[in-house]
Amino acid sequence: MRIGILALQGDFAAHQQAFARLGAETTLVRTPSAMDGIHALVLPGGESTTIWKMMEWSGLTGPIKDWASSGRPLLATCAGAILCASSIDHLDQPTLEVADVSVRRNAYGRQRESFEAPLNIPSLGDKPFPGVFIRSPQFTRLGKDVDLLCEHDGKTVLVREGSLLLSAFHPEMTEDLRLHDLFLQACGASTPAISP
Ligand code: GLN
Repeated sequence: MRIGILALQGDFAAHQQAFARLGAETTLVRTPSAMDGIHALVLPGGESTTIWKMMEWSGLTGPIKDWASSGRPLLATCAGAILCASSIDHLDQPTLEVADVSVRRNAYGRQRESFEAPLNIPSLGDKPFPGVFIRSPQFTRLGKDVDLLCEHDGKTVLVREGSLLLSAFHPEMTEDLRLHDLFLQACGASTPAISP
């Protein structure tokens, strides 16, 4: 099982560390050929407009769109999730349009409004998950095939659509590996049991 992590901008290194702790091999994706031989792809948090421009320059927009559209596993966090949405509220910003969701960018305000909150995510068990929100988006519209996995304060912050897992918060910035593990399990990996 090799996980490709888009590494153009943002917190890709934190995802790499989380997967390493789960025993999964990772490769940093900066060119289309780096996607050869990967089993799953991760789009990290960062700045969605910057990542988009760099994806275009690197020739990665098409390959990533094909990847997600053909039902291969993709984990996208924060800016990554924004890039997957079919539209962004009130903004004419291009996206990959691979997930049937709309998002609102910077839904919680500016950097100083960033916060942490315990999240109830039934797919991860009873123990609350530490949600790290940094200039995070919210999902404002979910298509009919999109599963809502977590709400915080009445707003949708984690969804799944087939093999796509999209989070508004940053699971890679906590010690809790359950969301990365859930993704690996969905990819068919058998990872050692973890105790977060
Ligand atoms: N606010 C950023 C954006 O709109 C996302 C922030 C993040 O990924 N932490 O792209």
